[in-house]
Amino acid sequence: MKGQGIVYIVGAGPGDPGLLTVRAWRILRRADVVFYDRLVSPGVLRRAAPEARRICVEKRDSVVDLSDLVSQMAREAQAGRVVVRLKGGDPFVFGRGAEEAEALVRAGVPCEVVPGVTSAVAVPAAAGIPVTHRGMARGFVVETAHRAGGETPVLATIPPEAGLTRVFLMVVATLETVVGQLLAQGYDPTTPAAVIEWGTTPAQRVWVAPLERIAPEARAGGVEAPAVLIVGPVVQLRGRLRVRPVRRRARA
Ligand code: SAH
Repeated sequence: MKGQGIVYIVGAGPGDPGLLTVRAWRILRRADVVFYDRLVSPGVLRRAAPEARRICVEKRDSVVDLSDLVSQMAREAQAGRVVVRLKGGDPFVFGRGAEEAEALVRAGVPCEVVPGVTSAVAVPAAAGIPVTHRGMARGFVVETAHRAGGETPVLATIPPEAGLTRVFLMVVATLETVVGQLLAQGYDPTTPAAVIEWGTTPAQRVWVAPLERIAPEARAGGVEAPAVLIVGPVVQLRGRLRVRPVRRRARA
């Protein structure tokens, strides 16, 4: 008989399989079952054991029932299997990873969290935008711009003088509202802003514009989720930093 199974709640990183952690990669190779979110990229899923069952738990228009999912995972673990719950970015940054962990612990299922590279920081970085920079931004604030049921998101009130870069996730549907609220908080309409879609993947697209122009620019380009919005002087650095991986030259 197989021993006690376990559920690993694993961060899949922002998209590029090269940004999986070594630990995530090792665990994926031992997986019997992988429950994954829609955003997890095919390249990351390919790192799972070939024989592992892969189950997408997020449909385009429906929210997964948390207790259903937790009982499915618990059943698999109780049958002695290695279960991987693969979530985009870091499992505890939005996306209800901690709720799932809590429910598993409550159900007495052995459970371990494997932190991941969050898109909030890595997507801007991979596009050449640092979230902090001496003399430009002394910190950053990450917020979700999503509100259930089409409600208007309420952003943190942070004066521009605080010198904090603002990063917004789940922002595509509410881009105009977010920009409007930032302007109302006193942000200069010319504050540099960027929208990055499918960051770190071959499909990556980036729009850079002054705050007052960023929404129409991104809309004109047909922006779609997943995308992050980043606002602050650090966006100007994009043109100055060479961040693309340099192809290694063959040894002579
Ligand atoms: N736990 C995840 C975030 C989940 S919320 C993390 O730590 O990254 C999902 C949101 O993340 C998306 O709506 C989008 O705003 C952002 N996101 C995730 N992957 C992204 C990517 N490759 N490019 C741009 N935004 C991304």
